[in-house]
Amino acid sequence: MSGSVNVSAGRSYLAIPGPSVIPDQVLQAMHRPSPNIYAGELVEMTATLIPDLRRVARTQHQVAIYISNGHGAWEAALQNTLQPGDRVLVPSSGRFAIGWAEMAQGLGIETEILDFGNHAPWDMDRIAAALAADTGHRIKAVLGVHVDTSSSIRNDVAALRRALDDAGHPALLMADCIASLGCDRFEMDGWGVDVMVTACQKGLMVPAGMGFVFFNARAAEARRALPRISRYWDWEPRANPEEFYQYFGGTAPTHHLYGLRAALDMIHAEGMEAVWARHARLARTIWAACEAWGRDGPLKMNVPDRALRSHAVTALHIGSPLGTELRMWLEQNLGLTLGIGLGMAPPRSPEWHGFFRLGHMGHVNGHMIMGLLGGIETGLKALDIPHGDGALEAAATALAGV
Ligand SMILES: *Cc1c(COP(=O)(O)O)cnc(C)c1O
Repeated sequence: MSGSVNVSAGRSYLAIPGPSVIPDQVLQAMHRPSPNIYAGELVEMTATLIPDLRRVARTQHQVAIYISNGHGAWEAALQNTLQPGDRVLVPSSGRFAIGWAEMAQGLGIETEILDFGNHAPWDMDRIAAALAADTGHRIKAVLGVHVDTSSSIRNDVAALRRALDDAGHPALLMADCIASLGCDRFEMDGWGVDVMVTACQKGLMVPAGMGFVFFNARAAEARRALPRISRYWDWEPRANPEEFYQYFGGTAPTHHLYGLRAALDMIHAEGMEAVWARHARLARTIWAACEAWGRDGPLKMNVPDRALRSHAVTALHIGSPLGTELRMWLEQNLGLTLGIGLGMAPPRSPEWHGFFRLGHMGHVNGHMIMGLLGGIETGLKALDIPHGDGALEAAATALAGV
């Protein structure tokens, strides 16, 4: 910004792919004294969360709530279904699949990683071949990240189910929907997912601190066949509590539960189909601008094919050091924070400064996304970064749906 004018005062905007923007309704619901955790309102309210969580995940099955982030939910899913020496297949389209595989390795589970890089979705032929080669059924689970937040690739979870069925393979299908739940369409039962993990700070719009593991009857059976299980991660008492504290393995995350109640009210008042349609429209608005900028100059979307892009997050490359410069400029001058690149280059290496990401998950609407895009356009101009013309016009056209 030339001269001494700084226009960053006002409400700031955190446009990173988690934690996401927290709605005022959620913040207000959490602003209260500690409730009684033994009886009364909190206990009754918590019971109402379960059916509404199921509706978001599109499942009739069970859900366990953990005081954890997504990493905790990853570990919980593994602890309840597998034991040391078991093997899992991990098709990877980015850093988060590798992270889940590393979590399994830490538990003594063997991992067979099919790495499709940072730009491609799962290759179903290679997955089919890996399943067919496993004639002894040593693979006990397939760990699939629905939307990999590092690459912004969205994978086809239903196709993974078909691959397992076509191979006649009994492995459990486990899905990481931490980035996608409440943003990109996901149908746990319709797509035949056995275990789904998510967390509260992305599409669910609550401050970080709760993880969720959804599981069906097949997964519950795998849990019962284990010789022993970590008391804390055991999903059985959490999903079927006789006492309130069993929901959480101890003290309830009191304020997060009130925040989640408010967030679920918002999601279901809008409707799942409408929530997904809103994310799709806003994602297309962002893509229209990014594609226009990219027609001239260094900006490139990580996923060229629209059909493979998530509606929750967009990963971009602009070349080092422009990615970091753009992020810093927007934060300091406009009060707008974009996400860092993840998994594309070693942390803080020279190349690392060439990447950034946009989060558009949860509590986002048209004027926020137009503000985000207008901010980026301003930053490109202020930093004299070459870019194609007409991005904001293209975005407005996409947003208007004409
Ligand atoms: C954010 C995210 C995680 C990790 O969640 P944390 O809450 O940071 O532990 C895992 N997988 C995906 C796909 C994510 O987007």
